[in-house]
Amino acid sequence: MYDVIVIGGGPAGMSAALNFGRGLKETLVIDAGEPRNKVEEVSNGFLTQDDISPHEFRENARKDVLKYDTVALTQDRVTDIEKDGEIFTVTTESDEFKSRQVLLAAGLREETPDIENFDAFYGTSAFYCPWCDGYELKGKRLAVMADEDSTSNLVMLIANWSRDLIICTDGKSLLNDEDKAMLKEKGFDYNESPISRMKGRDGKLEALEFEDGTTETVEGMFARMNWDTDFDFLETLDPDREDGGGLRTNPLSETSVQGLFAAGETKTSVASQQINAAASGADVAKSMMIGLMKEEFKKL
Ligand SMILES: Cc1cc2nc3c(=O)[nH]c(=O)nc-3n(C[C@H](O)[C@H](O)[C@H](O)COP(=O)(O)OP(=O)(O)OC[C@H]3O[C@@H](n4cnc5c(N)ncnc54)[C@H](O)[C@@H]3O)c2cc1C
Repeated sequence: MYDVIVIGGGPAGMSAALNFGRGLKETLVIDAGEPRNKVEEVSNGFLTQDDISPHEFRENARKDVLKYDTVALTQDRVTDIEKDGEIFTVTTESDEFKSRQVLLAAGLREETPDIENFDAFYGTSAFYCPWCDGYELKGKRLAVMADEDSTSNLVMLIANWSRDLIICTDGKSLLNDEDKAMLKEKGFDYNESPISRMKGRDGKLEALEFEDGTTETVEGMFARMNWDTDFDFLETLDPDREDGGGLRTNPLSETSVQGLFAAGETKTSVASQQINAAASGADVAKSMMIGLMKEEFKKL
């Protein structure tokens, strides 16, 4: 039996695993090998790891973690978690494992915008996070996909990196007269017509075609994704959720199921950055180990 099973081998899960290894805890990391950032060529903004490919980042993480004898990694997909008394049983597509604690570090489920060809450009010239990818698109002609919650905020953010913007709503009437006047005053274009498709080659976005028959030349796009943490494998344990749908956790990052913790984007329920996820994994691992150490100390 393991002390801890970590579900997810991204920065949150691997940073936790590194700390579990250093804390001498028997640890299994189960990772499906489907990171959300697999679509991007390079990842930016992590001190000492700036401009690194996600693949190289993961290989480095693997090397760091496998230095510790008590940590094992397996590529598999978790399908269910059950708890009987104090013991968790984690079922995967091909096996079953038991542990005293479980760390959820499975990132987010992501739904990309329903626009023809979006996925051909996602991660190379279409993004959602200006902190991650704004620098590479600075000064370029960019499309900004507005949504109900964040039109003015997103435009304000992206305008930091480029003043050559076209605001799109993909068929939704989101821009009121005040918004339109503001965009016009700042010299930004807008088009509320549905986007019929994205055009370009080799991952480089070149134009947006709209249902109103117009075509706009653009070199990049920022759009909002939909994210959640409604993983099928949580159906049996069914931990409590906040009103917004995210997992409810206490200050130690423990869910309503004792011994079941969350880290990284699974904990925050919104996208962040690798450095935040890694820091979260390290923090939560220490909280979890203090619980294990207290139990072990009683038995000394
Ligand atoms: C297009 C794009 C560009 C980005 N650019 C940057 C950037 O430049 N800089 C930056 O810092 N961040 C960037 N990010 C964000 C960054 O990828 C995330 O913030 C970070 O990876 C989150 O870490 P995590 O460990 O919480 O989740 P993830 O890295 O998503 O890891 C979760 C892991 O859990 C696994 N998993 C999921 N379900 C299961 C299951 N049932 N069983 C087993 N394993 C499972 C997945 O396979 C995955 O490997 C980008 C993301 C995207 C999508």
